[in-house]
Amino acid sequence: MQTYYSDDTTLFLNGEYVPAREAVTDLFGQTLHYGYGVFEGIRAYHTVHGTKIFQAQAHFDRLAESCRLMNIPLTYSSEELTQASYQVLKRNRLSNAYLRPLVFCSPNMSLTAPREVSVMITAWDWGKYFGNSSLRVCLSSYQRPNPKSIRVEAKTCGNYVNSILATSEAKALGYDEALMLDMKGHVAEGPGANFFLEKDGQLITPQTGHILPGITRRVVLEIANELDIPVEERPVSPQELEGADAAFFCGTAAEITPIESIDGKPFAKPWKKSVSRIIQEAYQALVLDKNYSYVIV
Ligand code: PMP
Repeated sequence: MQTYYSDDTTLFLNGEYVPAREAVTDLFGQTLHYGYGVFEGIRAYHTVHGTKIFQAQAHFDRLAESCRLMNIPLTYSSEELTQASYQVLKRNRLSNAYLRPLVFCSPNMSLTAPREVSVMITAWDWGKYFGNSSLRVCLSSYQRPNPKSIRVEAKTCGNYVNSILATSEAKALGYDEALMLDMKGHVAEGPGANFFLEKDGQLITPQTGHILPGITRRVVLEIANELDIPVEERPVSPQELEGADAAFFCGTAAEITPIESIDGKPFAKPWKKSVSRIIQEAYQALVLDKNYSYVIV
């Protein structure tokens, strides 16, 4: 089991930096009981220019947007939370790290919108989420939730019940990860990452509406645009998976993770020869604050 903190860990809690072992929460909060809270997953990298939090502003802006969509009051600005995050990294002497901001609700057992919340930011040392290998993925029996039931664009704690069920099912069946469809039967996303398909040198990704609009997904679209790699954002049918050349998951933690096969059917193109691999290299350069114009398409 991974350890997320030790006796020396300091975290940010409501404007103060406190030892993780002394930080406590009330047992009567809506987040614990009902999953009503929002969070972020952010990466910091040891770059040539020192420790850099990748897309910090975008992540904290999304945290604020998640709060707005969920009627959760948040009093900190993205700038303040970015500064606090750098402090957490510094105080814990972390550079390659995963940051976890969480906005959780104060005691309230009723089903009314929270009036008071707490904000915590913690960080831990972080290597690669999936390791270096490519993933054997299965189509999940779990669908992504109906956008009329929850706020799909918000990174809400309770939404991850769906993700945990899907990943657990995939692993129990001997796969590495799940790929979920949406309520219309179109390909949606992974439990914690967005999905891209490659066909004839072009990338295809499900459009927004039934997925978390990932920050990495947006960065991938920007890289593709810059490198003149065509991308389509549109509904993807599960039948299209079979004829594809390659596929990958992308996310803050997943970065760009190649998918080897779906339901045991491998993709035609070796990853090394795929356009997706070029995106992967460019993304790695970008998070490390390096120029990726050297990547030849
Ligand atoms: N979809 C889901 C369900 C996720 O949990 C994540 C991870 N936050 C993503 C997509 C990718 O989002 P991002 O690139 O912003 O990390």
